[in-house]
Amino acid sequence: MSFSALGLSPSLLKAVKEQGYTSAYPIQQQAIPVVLQGKDVLGIAQTGSGKTAGFALPILQLLEKKAETKNRFVKVLVLVPTRELAVQVEETFYNLSIHLPQKVKSLAVYGGVSINPQMMKLRGTDVLIATPGRLLDLVGQNAVKLSGVEVLVLDEADKMLNLGFKEEMDRIFDLLPARRQNLLFSATLVGDVETIVATQLHNPVTIKV
Ligand code: AMP
Repeated sequence: MSFSALGLSPSLLKAVKEQGYTSAYPIQQQAIPVVLQGKDVLGIAQTGSGKTAGFALPILQLLEKKAETKNRFVKVLVLVPTRELAVQVEETFYNLSIHLPQKVKSLAVYGGVSINPQMMKLRGTDVLIATPGRLLDLVGQNAVKLSGVEVLVLDEADKMLNLGFKEEMDRIFDLLPARRQNLLFSATLVGDVETIVATQLHNPVTIKV
């Protein structure tokens, strides 16, 4: 299926084309229209399924609409288990956003490197991609505010839980506005993933690829 049937703006379609994506993967066909409608999504999908563009494209489009309410707060928070994934997701957001009429700033923050350079780059970030521990450190230092988050993405939720981030995730949920759109992606739906689905997602549309 072509991307142009999914309701994306010309500037996003241009970026998609430049990325060499000729047709939308199943997760993209299913997730993009649902995210654009503002609904919560539970996506059961593996790495390599194209899930990143599946959430980045509709989120960028939603941000385009929200551009007039531009403020200094993070609007989209993507929680990821690892530094590698954080960097990949940031790259996808960047590559897909380059033709948008309003500039969207995405930034990846993760542990294992010094916090100061990340703190200095945070200003004006629209889309923050973070590992849970580093995000809490940044919040603790008043470097980031989560009260303006409108969309939360939990990417590879099962892996985040397997790495022991449950407590950090719960603390982060408590810092977010109750009214927000939630997208959860996981390869499996077991144990604590189900708990998070039950407690954080609101009438999610389930997509399984
Ligand atoms: P992901 O599962 O999000 O990590 O994506 C896996 C890989 O597929 C990445 O290298 C993407 O750049 C690529 N990709 C994503 N969507 C498409 C598409 N529709 N057509 C071709 N490649 C894609």
